Amino acid sequence: MRLQKLREQVLEANLELVRRGLVLYTFGNASGISRQDGLVAIKPSGVPYDELRPEHMVVTKLTGEIVEGNLRPSSDLATHLEIYKQFPNVGGIVHTHSEFATAWAQAGRPIPCFGTTHADYFHGEVPVTSALTAEEIASDYEKNTGLVICRRFRELNPDAVPAVLVASHGPFCWGRDVSAAAHNAVVLESLARTAYFTTTLNASSLPIAGELHDKHFLRKHGSAAYYGQSKHK
Ligand SMILES: [Zn+2]
Repeated sequence: MRLQKLREQVLEANLELVRRGLVLYTFGNASGISRQDGLVAIKPSGVPYDELRPEHMVVTKLTGEIVEGNLRPSSDLATHLEIYKQFPNVGGIVHTHSEFATAWAQAGRPIPCFGTTHADYFHGEVPVTSALTAEEIASDYEKNTGLVICRRFRELNPDAVPAVLVASHGPFCWGRDVSAAAHNAVVLESLARTAYFTTTLNASSLPIAGELHDKHFLRKHGSAAYYGQSKHK
């Protein structure tokens, strides 16, 4: 069996989404990519989480062609593949219908950065895609969902904003690997929830000051990062 480690990481990320209350039933999916092999491992479609094993993960090429696995891949595979093709630093992707992030997606509202938790993870608001057209829904719907995500990032850096809200649908999150993508999905749900309470308590709440936003994002990310322990020890 190929990509044993990646399969285990993808399974673990899927289970993490369940443990953190981000998915109901079999909603949601996680995938990881081996850039070296050009292969993606993704959760199979519709298998109960408590029955999932590493060997159930479906391995495909970036074209979607199945290389290993007898089960059907998650129906959102084509969305994941577009993100991998267009965002070269992404190593893992997670999609959920987690409640608060989905509420913002359904409202068609980007999540403003109201505080430092958001700023630690997302450099700017969490954006919302445009709606898919009738033609985009009618054929190649999942691939077009990926294209609409990538279109939204023409002027944005996906490495600095590792999530998007697909309009009327829900969040897709990513990271350097699938475990980082799952972590970002959990954080996104938390800040979507607190942003909801923030606007409820004060409808005129303003986004965080630019200087504070930059301070928090840049101390954790990029060349001048100093948060946490040095990785060079
Ligand atoms: Zn979905």
